[in-house]
Amino acid sequence: MNNPFNRPIYFDNNATTACSEEVFEAMKPYACERYGNPSSIHSFGGSVMPEIEKARWSIARLLGCTNADPNGHCTEVIFTSCGTESDNTAIRSALEINPARRKLVISKVEHPAVLNPAHELARQGYQVVEVPVDSKGRLDMAYLADAVDHDTALVSIMWANNETGNIYPVEEIAAIAHRFGALFHTDAVQAVGKIPMNMSESQIDMLSLSGHKLHAPKGVGALFVRRGVRFRPFMIGGHQERSRRGGTENVLGIIALGKAAEQAARSIAEENDYVKSLRDRLEQGILKSIPKIRINGDPDHRLPNTSLISFEFIEGESILMLLDQYGICASSGSACTTGSLEPSHVLRAMGVPYTAAHGAIRFSLSRYNTREEVDFLLEVLPPVIEKLRSYSPYWQE
Ligand SMILES: *Cc1c(COP(=O)(O)O)cnc(C)c1O
Repeated sequence: MNNPFNRPIYFDNNATTACSEEVFEAMKPYACERYGNPSSIHSFGGSVMPEIEKARWSIARLLGCTNADPNGHCTEVIFTSCGTESDNTAIRSALEINPARRKLVISKVEHPAVLNPAHELARQGYQVVEVPVDSKGRLDMAYLADAVDHDTALVSIMWANNETGNIYPVEEIAAIAHRFGALFHTDAVQAVGKIPMNMSESQIDMLSLSGHKLHAPKGVGALFVRRGVRFRPFMIGGHQERSRRGGTENVLGIIALGKAAEQAARSIAEENDYVKSLRDRLEQGILKSIPKIRINGDPDHRLPNTSLISFEFIEGESILMLLDQYGICASSGSACTTGSLEPSHVLRAMGVPYTAAHGAIRFSLSRYNTREEVDFLLEVLPPVIEKLRSYSPYWQE
């Protein structure tokens, strides 16, 4: 690795995160020792069930839910296989419990896990409204309020955007949805563990989260469904998850997610301060040393870990390739659009000019990054940009 640390310098935490050591240790025994099926009658398997319930409580605590049924079960959290499954489940369920309503309101900057199911539903005859954003990626709230009506089954708006880090006014949007008897779901995959939450005093009906975005492994997620909100399962099979999600539980993933939630709940404020100080150092350093850049997104409502920076007149992919030689990992637009040379749907929705949209790099940090890593980036990045610009036909000093 061509850097002084001899390991990757990982600034791509909105794509996925490292599994924490504490989380990995917690899940280990469930692979080869406590491998029983939690639904079994025998105690070898059955004794795993209380551990799943503990994990459920850890997530409930992180989300700030206090509702429990009289048996002490937290029934508001359903385990799934990923954020994508949670999003799909929420959308399907909302439409199925209210078949008379044929409209879905989302935003233009949703993750593909919401955007693409919505497009599929539009092909099936549902009316889908995509609320636009302004040049800073802020939602057009008047447009949204106008779009929601008595035909609307669901409003689904993400809590925080994976590309810009923008944070959306989810409580305000939930209130608008409820005025017309529609449900409100939020894709909170980027928000959980970064934004303190209090579901017990919230109007949000459903919320999606994913393990691998908060230092648990890939392949586990959860869907919060508020008590009293009607629900239809997406995965139909055995009676797992109170018949709300069939399929033998991903025990390792669930235990891991519970531990990751515990860790996040313990350190959310402190971690945010630390990560924000690194992100701000990175942005200030780049602003000082590199001309013709723009920081995309809403500076007043942004996740503390995310920075989406446009380096004008060059291609983001070329920057990533040169940074890769130093073991520096970042992203251009969203991981899902990498491979195509189209700017991401988020930058297009924001109307970012062509020359800036193509040179956009997302740096997304975590608690495992250090000041030294940021300083190393600030050392190698200016010459990388200068070199690429010297080849660019569009670039003039
Ligand atoms: C990563 C991500 C998802 C998808 O989660 P998976 O667990 O990878 O399916 C959904 N929404 C947002 C905002 C994300 O960042």
